[in-house]
Amino acid sequence: MTADQTALERVFAHIEANSSSFIDRVMDYVRHPSISAQNVGIAEVAAILVDILKGMGFEAEAIPTRNHPMVLGRREKHPGKPTVLLYGHYDVQPPEPLDLWLSPPFEPTIRDGRIYARGIGDNKGQHFAQLLAIESILAVMGDLPCNVLFLLEGEEEIGSPHIAEFVREHADELKADLVVTSDGPLHESGMPIITFGVRGVASFELRAKTARRDAHSGNFGGVMPNAIWKLVHLLGTMKNEGGEITIEGLNDPVIPPTNMEREAVSRLPLDLDAIKADLGISQLDAPQDRAYFDRLMFHPTLTINGLHGGYGGPGSKTVLPCEAFAKCDIRLVEPLTPEYVFDRVRAHVERHAPDVEFVPLNGMLPSKTPMDNPFADVIREAIVAARGVEPLLYPTVGGSLPDYVFTKILKTPAFVVPYANADEANHAPNENLEIDLFIAGIKTGAALLTKLGEGTA
Ligand SMILES: [Zn+2]
Repeated sequence: MTADQTALERVFAHIEANSSSFIDRVMDYVRHPSISAQNVGIAEVAAILVDILKGMGFEAEAIPTRNHPMVLGRREKHPGKPTVLLYGHYDVQPPEPLDLWLSPPFEPTIRDGRIYARGIGDNKGQHFAQLLAIESILAVMGDLPCNVLFLLEGEEEIGSPHIAEFVREHADELKADLVVTSDGPLHESGMPIITFGVRGVASFELRAKTARRDAHSGNFGGVMPNAIWKLVHLLGTMKNEGGEITIEGLNDPVIPPTNMEREAVSRLPLDLDAIKADLGISQLDAPQDRAYFDRLMFHPTLTINGLHGGYGGPGSKTVLPCEAFAKCDIRLVEPLTPEYVFDRVRAHVERHAPDVEFVPLNGMLPSKTPMDNPFADVIREAIVAARGVEPLLYPTVGGSLPDYVFTKILKTPAFVVPYANADEANHAPNENLEIDLFIAGIKTGAALLTKLGEGTA
């Protein structure tokens, strides 16, 4: 047994011995609301974090943005050792609807081995586990084994509108060798995971207006063009029944998965019948011959989010609508960008229905860290040390997070190592975190910093 293993085991023992006080403290922390959408409690919680970081020997401050501040802490005392940037967010979703909570959202309550509170899983409990990991290492070893930056955002739950600007402006202060985010859920089996990427997204609206006013479908049917038909036909040119996106050029740049990504995906557990049963579907979306994870990781999607127009009330109304609207999103895989996709959709609309208005809405770049990045192995070893099992490796997940600010703006490899249970009910009533996984998260954070300290930058 090496000296380092002994030190890490002593840190694990410290975490076990202090687990009940750690649970009390995370409950105290989530008792403070920090609802970004409603501007409730943001400054208070940012100040709490600055105090905690300073108490652990970090230089820390809440740095203003055009809206809610970023909390940035740094403790860099080991030149030559790696610097890890730990990212999280201290804002939470609004707790409504309140009547569906079994205990009030800001009065944390333990039931059946879980803490119930808004933000306990997403993300306050998870970054608090990182803070406690640092505190535990300091308590046992007296120093941190590597350099640590802590970046905690106050606007993640409202779409991170200022993080790109912040990261660009503070790029020098955010120089790190790797970024680790602990957010989101573990695999539903409780298996730990490492995620290397996210899909991006490009949202847009299509607006058709075919006449000055709605008309009688008998008196004007066959005379006046129907705005909903116009949109339906246009949408029909954008994706075929075989499930292929037929927007000219959209798929051309898509990079196929690497062998390493293919191999990682082949090891992921998959219970297709359970997924079908959960969704109540008998078959997956077209194309039928596409493997499950390929759908989520390696291909863009085109989703009609909503199609509106005409009459949808009770009974019938023989109306001929003059207006129709479609909201759509396209999930992006590397190297697609929202700009590229908007250009392709705009050109497609101009070609197929030039009188339909194309309105680009918001977009976010995809992000991917190569799976053979050397830090991937360090993180894997840390997870094995803390959890006793090999993590599942996800080349990408289907959803979108602003990881591109790290991989593309800072040009730093970024990894997501979640700590929460899969049924954390984030964004929903009765958000919760399994206490065992919270403690496992603290251990994982401690193991990560320790393993990073064994290497050189
Ligand atoms: Zn969230």
